Amino acid sequence: MGPVPGAREELDRLGRALREQLVELIDDLAPGSDPGLPLLDTPQVVDWHEPLRYRYSASGSTGKRPANAGAADSAARAAALLHAAGWAVTTSQEDAKGTPRIVVTGRRDGCTIEIRTVDHTSTVWFSGQTPAMALYEPEEFRRPEPVRTAETVTAGFVLCYECEGLGWCYDCGGRGWLPDETRGRVNCPGCHRRRVCVICRGDAELAVSELSTYQRGYYPELNE
Ligand SMILES: [Zn+2]
Ligand SMILES: [Zn+2]
Repeated sequence: MGPVPGAREELDRLGRALREQLVELIDDLAPGSDPGLPLLDTPQVVDWHEPLRYRYSASGSTGKRPANAGAADSAARAAALLHAAGWAVTTSQEDAKGTPRIVVTGRRDGCTIEIRTVDHTSTVWFSGQTPAMALYEPEEFRRPEPVRTAETVTAGFVLCYECEGLGWCYDCGGRGWLPDETRGRVNCPGCHRRRVCVICRGDAELAVSELSTYQRGYYPELNE
């Protein structure tokens, strides 16, 4: 898979800008908090359809607003800070188990930041994410070459009846997953992500002396 030119650099740039903005918001809205924040270490796959899409995200980050600031004050301050930094801002309310919660949402360059405040606690919640971007060009899958063939099978062995010498899982061709319309990818039901053939475990051949009666049934020539 070849990288999409410039994509990783662009995603990293967006991730850094997002992180800086979140840190700035937390410092201002919840001064002195150690929100354990924004990780954003490596981008995560968020869409497993080809080409895979990656994003940086930070969530679960919280801080305490100052004692003299109410939920609405903090929300208004968040909106003003985001607006000043060039973010398109919307403010809405959501229901948090019966109590209204103010949600300030900022959008810029495909990135989203959300700040949540409520009246009954001084906790402020911060989260953010970059857009999901394809980092690698999709590449057509080529099944691997067989590990063994009729010409290279070891003396005293037969080609594995399950994979016919492929060595890799016959169903998925060694990827461990299969394409799926809904989820993008599903674990291979043939090998359960082990990738190699479950019968020969990748050897591609089986010792004739160790074949069970059942397995010998696959090789009528042995019984002649
Ligand atoms: Zn096999
Ligand atoms: Zn498989």
